[in-house]
Amino acid sequence: MSDTTDLAVVGAGILGLAVAREALLRDPGSSVHVVEREDRVGAHQTGHNSGVVHAGIYYAPGSLKARLCVEGARDLYAFCEQHGVPVERCGKVIVAVTPDEMAGLDALEARGRQNGVPGLRRLDRRGLREIEPHAEGVGALHSPATGIVDFPAVARALAGDVIERGGRISLGRGVTGVDSGAREVVLRTGKGDLAARHAVFCAGAWSDRLAVAAGAPVDPRIVPFRGAYLRLRPERRELVRSLIYPVPDPSLPFLGVHLTRHIDGDVLVGPTALMAGARDAYRLRQMSPRDLAATLAWPGTYRMARRWWRTGLSEMGYAASRAAFVRAARRYVPDLEPGDVLPGPSGVRAQALGRDGALVDDFVFERTERALHVRNAPSPAATACLAIAAHVADEAGDTPFE
Ligand SMILES: Cc1cc2nc3c(=O)[nH]c(=O)nc-3n(C[C@H](O)[C@H](O)[C@H](O)COP(=O)(O)OP(=O)(O)OC[C@H]3O[C@@H](n4cnc5c(N)ncnc54)[C@H](O)[C@@H]3O)c2cc1C
Repeated sequence: MSDTTDLAVVGAGILGLAVAREALLRDPGSSVHVVEREDRVGAHQTGHNSGVVHAGIYYAPGSLKARLCVEGARDLYAFCEQHGVPVERCGKVIVAVTPDEMAGLDALEARGRQNGVPGLRRLDRRGLREIEPHAEGVGALHSPATGIVDFPAVARALAGDVIERGGRISLGRGVTGVDSGAREVVLRTGKGDLAARHAVFCAGAWSDRLAVAAGAPVDPRIVPFRGAYLRLRPERRELVRSLIYPVPDPSLPFLGVHLTRHIDGDVLVGPTALMAGARDAYRLRQMSPRDLAATLAWPGTYRMARRWWRTGLSEMGYAASRAAFVRAARRYVPDLEPGDVLPGPSGVRAQALGRDGALVDDFVFERTERALHVRNAPSPAATACLAIAAHVADEAGDTPFE
């Protein structure tokens, strides 16, 4: 069996679906075909995350993350309202627990203002307690534009839109190889070839493998970081009204253990950030020999480990001990007790790691012949999905997007 299409999109996570929809919006007459290995949309990162619509506070001014997060959050709220997807602008506080964290809060506020995040304001201890009665700190930054959303429902709504506009989505059809030529790109799949004039790869944790198969350099490699959550017992959910975050380490791309209310009312504590033995390591001990070998053979892994071994050890502590994990969150919600939590879900971050050992901070897009690859799209890419799709369409140049 062999199919042809104007545009093939690999991956039916939130990015692949947003890209397919954007292509159909820009060129309603074109054929767009999304191929996804799993039997449902949003099966990986899109369905295993914190569910937060980030407002754009953390990211380096001028970076793609900063611009696409601010634009993307605005577009996502509008999309959800139009499509009846559950979403709530509940706001969030970032809490400085000690006076020496205040400089970090100042820096975050300055970044947020430069990035154009709406409504930011500083709170003293009393102001913090008015918003989050159980939070404790010497000061806080309040972001009323931050919210919560059901990202899998966003993915389903995007998929519905793609199909309504004449696109195709083939589930259970994994791409096993790529042949790039001057006139077309051929995707090898278990269910026959798919020949396309152009392709966009949005393969999340597997993005580096497909990019290399299409002729891209091996640098950067995806290294999976498992994020485990705890869940508050239903009777203790009142400890958290919306979203409570610590002041993060600015040199790491992760935001620290936070408390997040989900759109279904559940309150999660987490996530951890521990290097994982598989790109789909939803269970702690899940290993894939191929994924593990890829991580261990990468020179960047050792360079990163030399720099971050202390952080790695404390993350291992959180993974091994629920009490240690709760202690991290108790710094800013002191009423939280180890008995208040239950085991929660987990997700695996697709984080690009350079050969030099640097965790790649910004979104990264790369071209190969007749194809564009999303090579690094960690948080806040779910928030930014619609803006990323527009960016990909702009970048794609002479594709059916035009
Ligand atoms: C623990 C955690 C917390 C997070 N919290 C937030 C948050 O609060 N807010 C936020 O904005 N972002 C958050 N993120 C980030 C966000 O979830 C991701 O940036 C976003 O989901 C990326 O979407 P994606 O479509 O690129 O990836 P994915 O959702 O992982 O989709 C990639 C798809 O490609 C498919 N695929 C891979 N290889 C192949 C192949 N060979 N053939 C066919 N299909 C293939 C996969 O099956 C998968 O469905 C979080 C992520 C994690 C892990």
